[in-house]
Amino acid sequence: MLNVVIFGAPGSGKGTQSELIIKEYGLDHISTGDVLRAEIKGQTELGRIADDYISKGQLVPDELIIDMLAKVLDSKKESKGVIFDGFPRTIPQAKALKKMLNERGTDVSVMLNLEVEEEELIQRLLKRGEISGRSDDNLETIKSRLDVYHNQTAPLKDYYVTEEKHTAIKGMGTIDEIFARVCEAINAIK
Ligand code: AMP
Repeated sequence: MLNVVIFGAPGSGKGTQSELIIKEYGLDHISTGDVLRAEIKGQTELGRIADDYISKGQLVPDELIIDMLAKVLDSKKESKGVIFDGFPRTIPQAKALKKMLNERGTDVSVMLNLEVEEEELIQRLLKRGEISGRSDDNLETIKSRLDVYHNQTAPLKDYYVTEEKHTAIKGMGTIDEIFARVCEAINAIK
């Protein structure tokens, strides 16, 4: 299986690049943010809890996310590979992912780290907020999401460097330019 972790700050282009990767490599997509937003829309118990965290720009607790991810992963058993978008976001999540994949006879193939300058991230998220209607794409929540990213998520870079899975991708430029860099990185491990 080709399992890709697409990594980066909010606004780094994970969703956009995931869509292109899916088309090019025929992978399944798991976006924990999308799953949570569907739970909120469906007014489930998980959605009700998650909504509180998301609207404040905080992370949903690890146990809830890991349980949710395990269920989604089981629905993708026949997959030729999965792109993990927005997961893992903490070290316990990364360790849980490794365990889950190992139990299924596979592992993370590569972690693609989309590196984008902070000012550009804020501009992209504000622009997205104008069209997406996402409750967390406003300046105040964007700032907490970036703080959460720096404090809780960015340390995952070192985890994946140690695992020898980390590849830095320059996330500035046009979507096509960035996608060309992404493809080069994926083709190098295939
Ligand atoms: P995203 O769509 O990936 O930007 O995620 C939107 C929000 O959903 C985040 O700001 C978190 O509140 C929550 N979320 C998504 N994925 C995770 C995760 N792996 N761990 C914890 N919270 C998450």
